[in-house]
Amino acid sequence: MSFLARNYNRRKIAFKKGRGSFLFSIEGKKYLDFLSGIAVNTLGHSNPKLIKALNIQAKKVWHVSNAFQIPEGEILAKKLVRKTFADKVIFVNSGAEANETAIKIARRYFYSIGKPQKNRILCIKNSFHGRTLANIFASGSKKMTEGFGPKVSGFDHFKYSDIKSLKSKISKKTAAIFFETAMGESGIKVHSNKFLKQVRKICSEKKILLILDEVQCGIGRSGKFFAFEYANIKPDIVPIAKGIGGGFPIGAVLMSKKVSQCMIPGTHGSTYGGNPLAMAIGSTVMDQIFKKNFLSNVRKNSRYFLKKLNVLKKSYPKVIKEIRGIGLLIGIQIYVDLGNFINDLTKNKLLTIRAAENVVRILPPLNVKKKEIDLALKIIKKVCSKY
Ligand SMILES: *Cc1c(COP(=O)(O)O)cnc(C)c1O
Repeated sequence: MSFLARNYNRRKIAFKKGRGSFLFSIEGKKYLDFLSGIAVNTLGHSNPKLIKALNIQAKKVWHVSNAFQIPEGEILAKKLVRKTFADKVIFVNSGAEANETAIKIARRYFYSIGKPQKNRILCIKNSFHGRTLANIFASGSKKMTEGFGPKVSGFDHFKYSDIKSLKSKISKKTAAIFFETAMGESGIKVHSNKFLKQVRKICSEKKILLILDEVQCGIGRSGKFFAFEYANIKPDIVPIAKGIGGGFPIGAVLMSKKVSQCMIPGTHGSTYGGNPLAMAIGSTVMDQIFKKNFLSNVRKNSRYFLKKLNVLKKSYPKVIKEIRGIGLLIGIQIYVDLGNFINDLTKNKLLTIRAAENVVRILPPLNVKKKEIDLALKIIKKVCSKY
């Protein structure tokens, strides 16, 4: 009997340790972990650099609160700003919190320039931004909001990648357009660079802020530090989380200077946000991701993986419908029952996770080895051949 509430559908496996791309169950079985704690364990399990950073900081100081200066946070913020479009950073603890903060910043920005009526946020219908009240209503998903009314107002929705639908939903009250650069949970749906460029142009013309949720596709997952870099555009606000902590809970909002100026003392806060322990670990993740060849390796492995998966698709046209993805955010859309397929992969010691639209989501650690990708391909092929 478990004393945990029943809000998760957990697989009946528990792990005693992890090493690199592998997890070892308490029964001693070895699994290839190609979900990485849902795009979190950027550097795999038990990464020596992360263990070292955690231990060093653990012996100094863990938590002091934002009533004080936090040098470790200054260091990570500087790294994030140096490597991205951003000028300023606010640290929080999770993706949902980062997204809520982003929404607050967009509204507060227009309030601060004397346009408080410009406060509506335009999102994609059936998207995913986390499980807090504002974010579930931002998602426009019936399933996620069921039973959680009254509705949080202020969100409008357009159809995925549909520029006409987007234009038709913009009003004088639109403060921000807010969506995931490459959609994870919703089925590994990657916006074209053309679409992203069009949205950026519309936002600039209509003085609307562009918020790109890079909680899942960011921090190198796409093969660039941010997925929007492929489109050569600059957003105004970018919430991040998942990958930046490498397994330690960290969230952050990156923003331009123009936007950041509205966040004066007292406008936002988080007790744990940016604590020294989290910051020391986030800094180490950043250093590893920006090591020479790290991101180009992600792109190289991605090309290889996607090419081989497309070969499998040709061999099993009745099982695989479509291969989707960018970088190491990969989806296999299948015709067969998703739960059964993922269970079969698990039985064959390959861990993956579901996404919407009957998609098997594959998220290896970013430092995955080619031979581990080959092992995954072998298992996927074996499971496909059963159907
Ligand atoms: C996971 C995720 C979130 C929510 O992050 P939490 O840390 O679970 O709150 C928000 N947006 C996207 C795109 C995500 O993938």
